[in-house]
Amino acid sequence: MQMISKSCSMASIPCSRVRNGLCVWPGARQLCLRKGLLYGLMHLLSLPFKTLRGASKTLRVAEFCSVSNMSSSLQIELVPCLRDNYAYLLHDVDTGTVGVVDPTEAVPIIDALSRKNRNLTYILNTHHHHDHTGGNEELKARYGAKVIGPGIDRERIPGIDIVLNDGDKWMFAGHEVVVMETPGHTRGHISFYFPGSGAIFTGDTLFSLSCGKLFEGTPEQMHSSLGKITSLPDDTNIYCGHEYTLSNSKFALSIEPNNEALQSYAAHVAHLRSKNLPTIPTTLKVEKACNPFLRTSSAEIRQSLNIPVTANDAEVLGVIRQAKDNF
Ligand SMILES: [Zn+2]
Repeated sequence: MQMISKSCSMASIPCSRVRNGLCVWPGARQLCLRKGLLYGLMHLLSLPFKTLRGASKTLRVAEFCSVSNMSSSLQIELVPCLRDNYAYLLHDVDTGTVGVVDPTEAVPIIDALSRKNRNLTYILNTHHHHDHTGGNEELKARYGAKVIGPGIDRERIPGIDIVLNDGDKWMFAGHEVVVMETPGHTRGHISFYFPGSGAIFTGDTLFSLSCGKLFEGTPEQMHSSLGKITSLPDDTNIYCGHEYTLSNSKFALSIEPNNEALQSYAAHVAHLRSKNLPTIPTTLKVEKACNPFLRTSSAEIRQSLNIPVTANDAEVLGVIRQAKDNF
């Protein structure tokens, strides 16, 4: 099973968790090991359907879906959409409640739900961009799901029912969800933090090895938003909106080539992508060690970009962002 083989494959890279002497990569948790037999059986049972469907993309998704957080009974399944977007299905095992984060388009979500004969109760949007909300209306019409999104952008979120703002706490089937305003990419961008599951959905604010483009915000805002996210525990799993990690790694290495943690992580990312496997979730620990936008104090990065030592972190972030935009 992919979820097991993903763990411990690169021992030299910073691990997200160490439990029972096992180095476990983001997304591959004890659940995968303890329930390996169960998922193996499910995998076998579902094969004929997937084969009949003949959709190679669907096959891959089912094989590498990351199921996590046994302690909180919340499963998170990654659903690739369009070219490089990720939507995420949230499934509370105890109640059967299902939500989706940032459905780019409806069809892959409907397919993923149909495979397991599940309904959809909630649609969560981090921000208004079409590649994060494009499936809202079709999914809402089909399942009667409630759309949840940032209050600031209520006019720009299709079908919105419930508005949430910074600091709001919302319950997803008994799981606390803390809403964090994380502007910079858009003015109303929010992130959904599930403290009981050690997971945060960062949309287009924090990517693995990068951050979102500053379409509606300033470097100061993005720096402050990233600071909120990095204040969470190091083993927090980061679920972001895009699979950009491989190209991000090339930029990151270009401005911090001597960062050994980055070198190892970039090699691991290249390996995963060569097998068409996702690099998400990543963890805060990995990002703090490797992501240039979280490393604005790095002397090597400042030197690479000719940034004066007197520049503050937000100014450095702005310069890194500009360099990345032109990379
Ligand atoms: Zn966006």
